[in-house]
Amino acid sequence: MGQKAVIVGAGVGGLSTAIHLAADGFEVSLYEANERVGGRANLLEFAGFRFDTGPSLLNYPWVFDGLFARAGTRLEDEINLLRIDPAIKFYWPDGETFQLSSDLNVLAEECRRLDSRDVAGLFNFLRDARHKYNLSFDRLVTRNADSPLAWFSAAGLRNLRKLGLFRSMDSQLGIHFHSERIRQAFGSYGMYLGGAPYDLPGIFSIIPFGELEHGLWLPEGGMYSLIQAMERTAKRLGVEIKTGAPVSSIVHSNGRVTGVTFDDGALDQAEIVVSNVDVPTTMTRLIGSDSLSDYRPPRMTPGVLTYYLAVDRELPTLNHHSVFLPANPRAAYDQLMKRGQIPTDLSFYVSVASNSDPTLARDGKSAVFLLAPVPLVSEASDIDWASTADNLQRSMFERMNQHGIEISESDVLESKYWSPVDWSDQFGLFDGSAFGAAHNLRQIGPFRARNMSNEINGLYFAGASTTPGTGVPMCVLSGKMVAERIADRAAKEAVA
Ligand SMILES: Cc1cc2nc3c(=O)[nH]c(=O)nc-3n(C[C@H](O)[C@H](O)[C@H](O)COP(=O)(O)OP(=O)(O)OC[C@H]3O[C@@H](n4cnc5c(N)ncnc54)[C@H](O)[C@@H]3O)c2cc1C
Repeated sequence: MGQKAVIVGAGVGGLSTAIHLAADGFEVSLYEANERVGGRANLLEFAGFRFDTGPSLLNYPWVFDGLFARAGTRLEDEINLLRIDPAIKFYWPDGETFQLSSDLNVLAEECRRLDSRDVAGLFNFLRDARHKYNLSFDRLVTRNADSPLAWFSAAGLRNLRKLGLFRSMDSQLGIHFHSERIRQAFGSYGMYLGGAPYDLPGIFSIIPFGELEHGLWLPEGGMYSLIQAMERTAKRLGVEIKTGAPVSSIVHSNGRVTGVTFDDGALDQAEIVVSNVDVPTTMTRLIGSDSLSDYRPPRMTPGVLTYYLAVDRELPTLNHHSVFLPANPRAAYDQLMKRGQIPTDLSFYVSVASNSDPTLARDGKSAVFLLAPVPLVSEASDIDWASTADNLQRSMFERMNQHGIEISESDVLESKYWSPVDWSDQFGLFDGSAFGAAHNLRQIGPFRARNMSNEINGLYFAGASTTPGTGVPMCVLSGKMVAERIADRAAKEAVA
């Protein structure tokens, strides 16, 4: 039997870590507080409908190819992926739209419609972003780096300027696109990175590129089918998964981790503990920041108000994803991210996964997911979420009606909503932040929380708030990278 490792939390990062460590020969125990694995990528089932709670599409399938290959299986043997194209349509209040497709002829035509100069812009953008994307994933995102120097050297000093680290995402997009609408659409990806496109580094223009280049996919049965495949794979490799098992503390002594404890006082001893619980929650609740010097939580991405609606009609005009943008995105970002308020002119997105996989809803009906970015728990102490959820749902329906999408309160057979407080309570998300630590220049690469504790030997981190960052593929990579750290340490100890 190999060396023992305990993982706390079975989110995407925890499951990925478990698979990688088990494939490396470790004896792995994984403890999950909830009755079901998956963390934010969870499942709600009611009224004959099935909803993914968080992520609603899979991107960068090559990351999952790598994950399942490490476990001796294949992505296509584990889940059936449905290609979703066109996947996303953006709507503005004046009726303008912009639809994304990986079919370049279709996309070029759509760019031409908004500004004829942007056909050339599109191809320049794709060339530039492809270069950035390859550089990022080959040299930066997938590698552990211990210092800014190591990270910048890995990129190659002469490539630094080309990465767009030192200009904003919006200005990076502005190099290629004349249309303000196209900039706003691609820039809106910044919301889940925790910043306005005017503040985030330009390297993040690779996100819309990555989706166009590698496509967007829905696992048959919904995103939770991916989680189930990861759980199955981990178990097959011998990982012991215990659900309904909240860890109450990570114990350490003389600067070394010694195990984890549970509510009943039981201790599971281990010299390696990987926390997949949001890093600032781990630091403040599971370790106790007073035992660590100067811990300061990072700046977090906003909260979200999410709705799961069993709708009594088909919604054929909606794509899998629709993003409703405000007339003035800059003002909305400022309200949300700088003043901690719900934007007056709300930006939100709608996913009708049952339009892509009809098994997710009852016949002739729709499984509808709504997401509105909202302030963090600490910024929203005066918000009554029950009445706010009602009001915002009404305004989202009104906005959809303006665009000719017929939906009203009376169409909703049954529904649930989750506020930032619910997200925080259910999954330990720090301050109710939906996507974890933000991705401004001071919180990416070597400046982001490391996946290995500097102060407690044997303590590691995986998930959205550590490296490389947020999103399902990034959390899968996070599990791979932390397993590499642990294997490196084991190799060094074997030599010593
Ligand atoms: C609404 C929403 C929409 C999203 N959409 C997308 C998308 O379209 N595409 C995309 O790629 N990403 C998306 N994301 C982001 C993606 O879901 C996350 O980045 C990813 O799932 C986070 O995984 P994680 O590894 O950080 O673990 P988490 O999901 O944070 O899971 C941590 C786990 O630890 C458990 N835990 C907490 N405390 C304890 C304890 N004391 N003991 C034991 N267990 C504990 C929790 O219950 C949880 O299961 C979305 C997120 C949200 C919230």
